[in-house]
Amino acid sequence: MERLIIIGSGPAGLTAAIYAARAALAPVVFAGYQYGGQLMYTTEVENFPGFPNGILGPELMESFRAQAERFGATIHNVDVTRVDLAQRPFRVWAGDDRYEADAVIVATGASARWLEIPGEAHLRGRGVSTCATCDGAFFKDRHIVVVGGGDSAMEEALFLTRFGSKVTVIHRRDALRASKIMADRALAHHKIDFVWNAAVVGCVGETKLEALDLENLVTGERSRFASDALFIAIGHDPNTGIFAGQLELDATGYISSDDGVRTNVPGVFVGGDVFDIRYKQAITAAGMGCKASLEAEKYLEELDAEREAGGVLTATG
Ligand code: NAP
Repeated sequence: MERLIIIGSGPAGLTAAIYAARAALAPVVFAGYQYGGQLMYTTEVENFPGFPNGILGPELMESFRAQAERFGATIHNVDVTRVDLAQRPFRVWAGDDRYEADAVIVATGASARWLEIPGEAHLRGRGVSTCATCDGAFFKDRHIVVVGGGDSAMEEALFLTRFGSKVTVIHRRDALRASKIMADRALAHHKIDFVWNAAVVGCVGETKLEALDLENLVTGERSRFASDALFIAIGHDPNTGIFAGQLELDATGYISSDDGVRTNVPGVFVGGDVFDIRYKQAITAAGMGCKASLEAEKYLEELDAEREAGGVLTATG
């Protein structure tokens, strides 16, 4: 029986773990087999405060982890496979192993969608990225391609004009999905041009991205398009599969929360990209993890007070 279980080990989960461990809650973190979250897939992180010379994403996450462990967090590198949040204590399974806790923080993040085309995995971090904020600055005066037609793609394209000599948006249809204001801004920008009705079907390059293979989706014609960088902005998928039917999710599968901390189940809190559809930054996730931990601590104090008073266990969080 644990006091607090934290599911997820990106900046939100591990910040929650640091705070909870320092509050003597001895949190148990289910980090996942692929622990560390999305920063494990980035190279240099230049916008995390406190590192004026930048830090490698995996190195930053190892530091988060070491800091949480230093104060007594227990971290298991296993995936949570099932939860039961309808009963008290809450139950969490990792395979056949069952754990119980008075409070749970969900920080399972969201995964950027990839195109899953030849060459993409090999050139990840060498020209192929899903995060313009993280990697855009590496492509100063280069020709940058953004794929996607939604708000994220427009936002990334507009942001990347700060660095690139030219930004080409490649979209699979002839109309944008993005909101009018974002679309108009991108369409009017002198550094941005568009390739319509085209799919990126391959990434070319040995040690770094050199070109993209395109397919015209109307004519079926194939061509090679020289490019130094490919930013894929085709959406994210929140990692909420195990919470379906247990926690309230919004229409896009993200965890619903009125205040960005509490879920619809008292005692279950949320932090990071699994809730945050808008900012999706390591630093915002860390801040949310901190808030989730402080609220969990308060919830547990109330629960203890009720138990001491011999009351029914109804702390409402
Ligand atoms: P999105 O709205 O779902 O758009 C995804 C885009 O990627 C669509 O244009 C889609 O094409 C394309 N796409 C999907 N799968 C693809 C594939 N396999 N190959 C090629 N293209 C593919 O996702 P999003 O842009 O990340 O936005 C998510 C939510 O966040 C939206 O509600 C958005 O409004 C919001 N958001 C808002 C802002 C802002 O207001 N500043 C910024 C970012 C995000 P189709 O159009 O053909 O489907």
